[in-house]
Amino acid sequence: MTLDIRHTIIMTTIPDHNQIKRTLNQYRLCDACIGRVFKYMEKGVTNRERGEHIRSTVKHTVKVETSDCWLCEGLLDEINHFTDIVQASLKNHEFHTFLIGSKIDEDIVKKEKETIDFSGSTGSEPIKMEMNREIGKILEQKLGKIVNFEIPDITAVIDTSFDVVSLQIKSLYIYGRYKKFERGIPQTRWPCRICRGKGCRACQYTGKMYETSVEELIAKQTLEHTKGTEEAFHGSGREDIDARMLGTGRPFVLEVKNPKIRTIDLAVLNQQVNTMGNERIEVSNLRFSDAAEVARIKNAEFRKIYEVVLEAEKPLDEEKLKKVALTLQGTTIQQFTPTRVAHRRANLVRERKIYSCSIDSVEGTIARLTIETESGTYVKELVSGDNGNTQPNISELLNNPCKVKDLDVIAIKGE
Ligand SMILES: [Zn+2]
Ligand SMILES: [Zn+2]
Repeated sequence: MTLDIRHTIIMTTIPDHNQIKRTLNQYRLCDACIGRVFKYMEKGVTNRERGEHIRSTVKHTVKVETSDCWLCEGLLDEINHFTDIVQASLKNHEFHTFLIGSKIDEDIVKKEKETIDFSGSTGSEPIKMEMNREIGKILEQKLGKIVNFEIPDITAVIDTSFDVVSLQIKSLYIYGRYKKFERGIPQTRWPCRICRGKGCRACQYTGKMYETSVEELIAKQTLEHTKGTEEAFHGSGREDIDARMLGTGRPFVLEVKNPKIRTIDLAVLNQQVNTMGNERIEVSNLRFSDAAEVARIKNAEFRKIYEVVLEAEKPLDEEKLKKVALTLQGTTIQQFTPTRVAHRRANLVRERKIYSCSIDSVEGTIARLTIETESGTYVKELVSGDNGNTQPNISELLNNPCKVKDLDVIAIKGE
């Protein structure tokens, strides 16, 4: 009984020799292509070896050379050639891991599908996969680098019809913290509103609203070191152009696109950025990072501590101001999107917590306050009230219209 069952199973897995014979008579296939089409029939051998075994099993004596193969049209003979052009295209790039991809001539892909459909094979390997794998293996040996399927430093894609290679290069990410000592410098590059970056008379042909930015001051030398083509600046929250960023600085990740060099001396870069920053900006804590960290610092809710210089219309009453500060401590305020940012943020009411508020000094119409808030609080509007769009606000509580004269971020907590 047992034997019978086993017999049945074996019978169903034995390949249909007639179908293989019909396929080999129908299409002129080289051994590698035969081995690929009937991949499921034998494991642990190369496609070429498998093809040979299959031919002898079904007694098909005509051996087709790869150059005469109807399916691959000699493509498999060109693996060394493709390896060479990939190697040449990688010559000026630093990388540790790579991956080979290929775009196979459509004609060959069509023929491959037809052959596999006709053969009734239950497991084939696409020619593309063989190419990628074989070229990858040769290059691993030649270059001493490793194939990585998840996040390779470089993916080289071969287009077999045009005999060209295109490279997809993983961005390089550098984490750090920056401080900004001078007001009037935006966090990121700000294209001219009139010409949108092309350059016009209004922007004196710079294409920018401001001469420089934190982004540019950090990126310039980073791009020189890495020979990247572009960069993107990811800051942990934005800050007003007229606010300074003090204390231990604001976390950021600079993304360098298409870097040719990945190993750079960050201590040297740090020093150069600070020298060029010329006491306007300064960076610290530079280290290599990744795309996941960009998401982390962009989404993180870091509490912020601000130092605010407030200016009131009428002379300030210190006792009253202290009471207002106490009232605000621990409350949640409602902020409707301020007019000044309405063009880039959705109009809605945001609730933000004020963790602490204290008065450092009062002199005439000027007061100095330290305020700790939840991430995303509009501090200028907390002071002015923004025509009642922020509730409660310092101006209304004091019954004395106030505005922020100077604003500094002195700490970003939670990192
Ligand atoms: Zn072939
Ligand atoms: Zn312009």
